[in-house]
Amino acid sequence: MKILVVNCGSSSLKYQLLNMDDETLLAKGLCERIGIDGRLKHERGAEEFISDVPMPDHTAAIKVMLDALLSKEHGVIANINEIVAVGHRVVHGGEFFSDSVLINDAVEKALEDCSDMAPLHNPPNLLGIRASKKNLPGVPQVGVFDTAFHQTMPKKAYMYALPHKLYDTYKIRKYGFHGTSHKYVSMKAAEMLGRPYNKLKIITCHLGNGASICAIENGRSVDTSMGFTPLEGLVMGTRTGDIDAAIVPYLMEKEKLTAPQVIDMFNKKSGLLGLSGVSNDFRDIFQAKQDGNEQADEALEIYYYRVASYIGRYAAAMNGVDAVVFTAGLGENSSLLREKVCAYLGYLGVKIDSEKNSKRGKSMDFSADGATVRSMMVMTNEELVIARDTKDIVSKL
Ligand code: ADP
Repeated sequence: MKILVVNCGSSSLKYQLLNMDDETLLAKGLCERIGIDGRLKHERGAEEFISDVPMPDHTAAIKVMLDALLSKEHGVIANINEIVAVGHRVVHGGEFFSDSVLINDAVEKALEDCSDMAPLHNPPNLLGIRASKKNLPGVPQVGVFDTAFHQTMPKKAYMYALPHKLYDTYKIRKYGFHGTSHKYVSMKAAEMLGRPYNKLKIITCHLGNGASICAIENGRSVDTSMGFTPLEGLVMGTRTGDIDAAIVPYLMEKEKLTAPQVIDMFNKKSGLLGLSGVSNDFRDIFQAKQDGNEQADEALEIYYYRVASYIGRYAAAMNGVDAVVFTAGLGENSSLLREKVCAYLGYLGVKIDSEKNSKRGKSMDFSADGATVRSMMVMTNEELVIARDTKDIVSKL
């Protein structure tokens, strides 16, 4: 069963075609600069094909992607009918969706209703769904939500201390994101530990450009660091994470900015980029620190401290923790980051083996002998979760 996974942004579209009989990746790629000019990067195994192809809109981009998959030179399917279903990454499912869902008109309407809460993400996700329906008529389309896994959070974790009527009227609350990744890596960690998922307390740290932490108790998300939008929580590549809301009007007055301009600054010019003044990429900042840049050093220390503080908070919330799991770009690749964060966690029973921690490219438990809380790195695979959920849903049709 071949399943296509689509992750659509405002000017880009990432895709993967998987054979779900044995969960192998057949091809993957990226359509970039949609609505500008258009560029395709298509990978089949170790081969990579890059070409400039006009993509005036998302429908055109989907067509380019399908042509690449069908191409005689670098394609992987002979007939479009081989694609049994399409799984779409959807960022915000609000309170409507606590699981993945077959997309129909009512679901599209609900996604439109959630667009207010994720104006940067949901509209392009919807564009991708509609363009995919147009190019693949009659093929089932499934929505897999970043927010769904966190719908198990208790009210005490997801409510903001605002007047209650704002929740009643606008559903202002914490939703959380990266749910697909938190779910995948926590399940994988349980499997690696050889222990039942529903009897473990796990803290997963998804540290990429966007970053969030999740507390998972007995297989359910019970708290997470991102909130109403993906701005809350950890320090990120360009986002502030937690901040005192009173800074907004203060900056509006002092810097003569509008509220959207302040939020834009919090989303795009802050975080590691804003603090370091160097880059949003950990590698550049680390290099700057090596070159003696004190501000870069400070930015990294602030980053580690925030992650470690959240781990402490979630260990307290769950009254203990069995494993701390690192994932995504930084979590998977930076042994230094893992070491720095874990250095705060001795009191919990975290003890790492530096030799094991220095390894890369494979999920691992890098705890030292005598550790009572496991430290792990698990490589995330959000596309595989999307394909699995899609397969489950279409298998029941
Ligand atoms: P996104 O959130 O965009 O999916 P990723 O999960 O791919 O991002 O993470 C991207 C970030 O991972 C980069 O900005 C970089 O800071 C970090 N990163 C990637 N590779 C390395 C590495 N080898 N060492 C340190 N950091 C890395």
